[in-house]
Amino acid sequence: MPEGPSIVILKEAVKQFRNKKVLSVGGNTKLDVAFLKGKTIKEFKSWGKHFLICFEKRAVRIHFMLFGSYRINETKDAPPRLHLEFPNGQLNFYACSIRLIDDDVNDVYDWSSDVMNDKWSPAKAKKKLKEMPNTLVCDALLDQNIFAGVGNIIKNEVLYRIKVHPKNKIGKIPPRKINELIKEARNYSFDFLKWKKEYVLKKHWLAHTKKTCLRCDLPIKKEYMGRTYRRTFFCNNCQVLYK
Ligand SMILES: [Zn+2]
Repeated sequence: MPEGPSIVILKEAVKQFRNKKVLSVGGNTKLDVAFLKGKTIKEFKSWGKHFLICFEKRAVRIHFMLFGSYRINETKDAPPRLHLEFPNGQLNFYACSIRLIDDDVNDVYDWSSDVMNDKWSPAKAKKKLKEMPNTLVCDALLDQNIFAGVGNIIKNEVLYRIKVHPKNKIGKIPPRKINELIKEARNYSFDFLKWKKEYVLKKHWLAHTKKTCLRCDLPIKKEYMGRTYRRTFFCNNCQVLYK
């Protein structure tokens, strides 16, 4: 599943279609997207893992779920869910979830909860975390209402970086560590973005899918953890479980 930074990469990759008119629309989506023909794209935006194609009045929201993908100016050997043709190329989305947004996206989305947005608010994240003392930190990081864009890789790497055990309840974590958590959720997302663009993301993983802790030379544990039962990689020795 693409995490926030991958959607930012997509947003940059499709800039060529900004202010371009849709010449034809296709795809096997059940939504009525025919009205997009003749409309001009005003802007591409992202909110966490949501990719937004914004027109004058409405927007198309794309979520890649587990198996979604896209192609720019080429096609895959599969039927696209949504196909958009422009005077200067084409855009194809596969196996993704598509929704239409009828309201102004600025009214629908709280940009301050997107860790990669210029409007990201650490203070708001802190306030939301305070309201959930019994939530496991591994779940809190994946909560898109607090950390939109953070996915499983970012979760594992952030917790390893700040030496916080994924099984900690939010209320048990010292305030300075909560601050670090919030700071690193954004920091690591930008490292992810940079490394992904350079095709060296995996090379920089310290915990995710790793076998040995670089700090302790002890085994990295793998457990399916939290409400969403996601793969969690951590070191029992250097990632502190607060009492
Ligand atoms: Zn360790």
